[in-house]
Amino acid sequence: MASHVVGYPRMGPKRELKFALESFWDGKSSAEDLQKVAADLRSSIWKQMADAGIKYIPSNTFSYYDQVLDTTAMLGAVPDRYSWTGGEIGFDTYFSMARGNASVPAMEMTKWFDTNYHFIVPELGPDTKFAYSSHKAVSEYREAKALGIDTIPVLIGPVTYLLLSKPAKGVEKSFSLLSLLGNILPIYKEVIAELKEAGASWIQFDEPTLVLDLDSYQLEAFTKAYTELESSLSGLNVLIETYFADIPAEAYKIITALSSISAFGFDLVRGTKTLDVIKSASFPAGKYLFAGVVDGRNIWANDLAASLGTLEALETIVGKDKLVVSTSCSLMHTAVDLVNETKLDSELKSWLAFAAQKVVEVNALAKALAGQKDEAFFSANAAAQASRKSSPRVTNEEVQKAAAALKGSDHRRATNVSARLDAQQKKLNLPILPTTTIGSFPQTVELRRVRREYKANKISEEEYVNAIKEEINKVVKLQEELDIDVLVHGEPERNDMVEYFGEQLSGFAFTVNGWVQSYGSRCVKPPIIYGDVSRPKAMTVFWSSAAQSMTARPMKGMLTGPVTILNWSFVRNDQPRFETCYQIALAIKKEVEDLEAAGIQVIQIDEAALREGLPLRKSEQAFYLDWAVHSFRITNCGVQDTTQIHTHMCYSNFNDIIHSIIDMDADVITIENSRSDEKLLSVFREGVKYGAGIGPGVYDIHSPRIPSAEEIADRINKMLAVLESNILWVNPDCGLKTRKYAEVKPALTNMVAATKLLRTQLASAK
Ligand code: GLN
Ligand code: ZN
Repeated sequence: MASHVVGYPRMGPKRELKFALESFWDGKSSAEDLQKVAADLRSSIWKQMADAGIKYIPSNTFSYYDQVLDTTAMLGAVPDRYSWTGGEIGFDTYFSMARGNASVPAMEMTKWFDTNYHFIVPELGPDTKFAYSSHKAVSEYREAKALGIDTIPVLIGPVTYLLLSKPAKGVEKSFSLLSLLGNILPIYKEVIAELKEAGASWIQFDEPTLVLDLDSYQLEAFTKAYTELESSLSGLNVLIETYFADIPAEAYKIITALSSISAFGFDLVRGTKTLDVIKSASFPAGKYLFAGVVDGRNIWANDLAASLGTLEALETIVGKDKLVVSTSCSLMHTAVDLVNETKLDSELKSWLAFAAQKVVEVNALAKALAGQKDEAFFSANAAAQASRKSSPRVTNEEVQKAAAALKGSDHRRATNVSARLDAQQKKLNLPILPTTTIGSFPQTVELRRVRREYKANKISEEEYVNAIKEEINKVVKLQEELDIDVLVHGEPERNDMVEYFGEQLSGFAFTVNGWVQSYGSRCVKPPIIYGDVSRPKAMTVFWSSAAQSMTARPMKGMLTGPVTILNWSFVRNDQPRFETCYQIALAIKKEVEDLEAAGIQVIQIDEAALREGLPLRKSEQAFYLDWAVHSFRITNCGVQDTTQIHTHMCYSNFNDIIHSIIDMDADVITIENSRSDEKLLSVFREGVKYGAGIGPGVYDIHSPRIPSAEEIADRINKMLAVLESNILWVNPDCGLKTRKYAEVKPALTNMVAATKLLRTQLASAK
C-alpha cells in the first residue's frame, strides 16, 4: 500500500525561508545565500518524507514566492511592464512581478480558493507570448534525484492556471482566457518531455478548480487539455489532484473518462460527498485513487481508526494495489512541526499533528492497510482521540447549554434600523456626514517594545497601564484636534485583532511556531480553538472606559466579531463550525453588554473575515451566510436602541452578499471602497434598498500616499450620488496601524476638511 503527500510547507519549521528572503530583498545577503537556505529546506523536507516511508514524495512544491507565479515564469507570461527580454527568468524579474520594483508596481494578489494563502494573478491576453522560461520543475526533480530520492514533480494544471488568470490591462474583460489553452500546452509538453528525460515516472497536475461550479465549456477544457497532452504523457503515470471541496459528479465523470490520466486525488476531509460519488459512479478500472484522508487545512491529529475504515471501504472499490493514502491538500495550509512547540502542554499536544506529524500519519495508515499496522502508534492515537472527547478542558456544559438554547430564535433587535438611528441621533447629536476611523492608530516601535516587555515581565503592570493610557490619551487628543466626531482609542494594547481576544477567552491555545504562509514571506500564526469558548471576564471595558473618560465625544468600543475570530483560527473539528461560532458569539455578546453598561454608546464589532469563510460551492453558501450573520446578530441583539452598533469589513466585492450584509442589521457599516469605488457603489446604483448608516472608505490606507482634500471630496460626492446624505459616514478604508503618524495626520486633516466643505455645500443646497 502506497503513501503520498500533496505538497509541503516551504517556509521551514522556524520560518527560515522568510528570513532568508527578507534579508536578500534588503540587500543584506546574496542570491547564493538565499539559494543555499532554499536548497537546505528542500533537501530536509524530502529526506523527512523519505525517512517516514512516503512513496510518492512531491517536488516543485517549494517556491520562492508562490506556485502560480512559478507557473507564470515557466510559461514566460511576464507582463510587458517588467521589461523582461527573454531567457531563463531570474530573481530580478521574478521578484519584480511578486513585489514590484522602484518603477513598476507588483502584479495583483488574490486569495487561493477559500484559504488564507494568496497567489499572484496571471495577466494574460491574446498577445501574450509564451515561451518555456523557468526550468524549476525539472531542476528540482533532478536535485532530489541527486539526493537519492525519486519524486513526483508537481505542476499547476493548464486549465486551473488559465481559470485563475485575469485579462491583462487593456484586454477586453470578456476575453476568453481558456482560448489560450492551445498556446500554453506546447510549453507543458516541453516540460513533460524534460521531466521524462530526467527520469520521472510520475507527474502530478494540481487542478483544484475542478471542485468549483464550472460550466460545460470550462469542463470541456479539461478534456481538450489532457487529450492534447496524451501522447506527451505516454509512458508516465499521471495524477490529477483536486482539493478543498467535493468533486461535483459532472467533473468526476469528465476526468475519470480521460485515457491519459492514471490517478485521481480527492480531498476526503472537506469533500464529504466525494465518497458517495466514487461509490455510486464507477471508478475506472486499473486506475489509482489517491485518497486525501489526512487533513491539510487543520492541526488536529487524524482519527486513524476512522480513516482506516474509510480506506478499507475504498479498497473494495478500487482494489488493493490501486489505493494510495494521501493528504487532503498540500500541507502548506497547516503549521510545520509540533516538535518546536515548547509551550503547549503534553495533553493538548497529543491531540495535534502539524505537517511533519501528518506525514507520519499518512505512512502509518498505508502500512496498516498493507497488514503492517503499528499497534503502538494506533493505540496511542486512539487514546489521544478518547482523551480529547472526554477532557473537561474541552467541554463546558454551561456554554453548551447556552449555545443549544439559541435555537429557534433569530436574535434581532426589537426596533428597526431607522427608528434606532433616530434614537441614537437624539443622544449622540452628530453632524451630518459624521467622521470616524476604523480603530487602530499607528503602532510605533516604542509601543511594541512596551507590550513585549510587559509580556516578558520586564515592566510592571502599573508601568504598562500608564504607558498604554498615555498612548490612548495622545490618540484621543489628536482626534479632537482633527475634529473627528466619533473617536477610537487606537488599539495600542493589541498585537493582533484575533489573538488579543483569543488570549482572554477560554478554549483557545497559542503556538510559538505554528506559522502558516499567507503570501510571499508573510506568515500568520492562527490561534487553536480546542474547547468550548467562554469569557471569564471583561476583555476591553477597562481600556474603553479609560478612553471614554478622556473625552466628551463618543468613544467607540472596539471588538472583533465571532465570524472573524472563527475564520482566522484553527477551528476544532469535533463539532460543526457554526456551533463554535455561536459560542464565540455568546462570549462577545457579554462583552458588548458590559461595554454598554460601562457607558459606551457606540460599539464596533469588526467582521473583516466574514466573506472569506464563504464556501467555494454555491450550494453551500446560503447555509454559511445564514449562521455567520446570525452569529453577528447574537452579539448585539440585547442592546438598547440608543446604543449604536457598527461593523467593519475589509473588502469591497460584496455585491453578491449584500443582502446578507443588510441582514446583519448593524446600525452603521464601514467598508473598504477606495480601491474600487465603482464596484461597491454600483450595488446601490442598481437599486438595493439600504437604510442603515454606511461609511465606504474615502481613502486607501494600504498606501503611504496622502490623498488631497479635493480628491476625498470628489469621492464623497460620488457616494452622495447614490446614497442619502443622512446615512453616509466619512472614514478611511481600514485601520491605520500599518501607517506612520506623518501620513495619518495630513490624510485625516484632509478627510475632515473635505467633509466640512461638503457639509457647507449640503447646507446651502437646502
Ligand atoms: N479595528 C481594526 C483596526 O482598525 C480593524 C482591522 C481590520 O479590519 N482588519 O485595525
Ligand atoms: Zn479593515
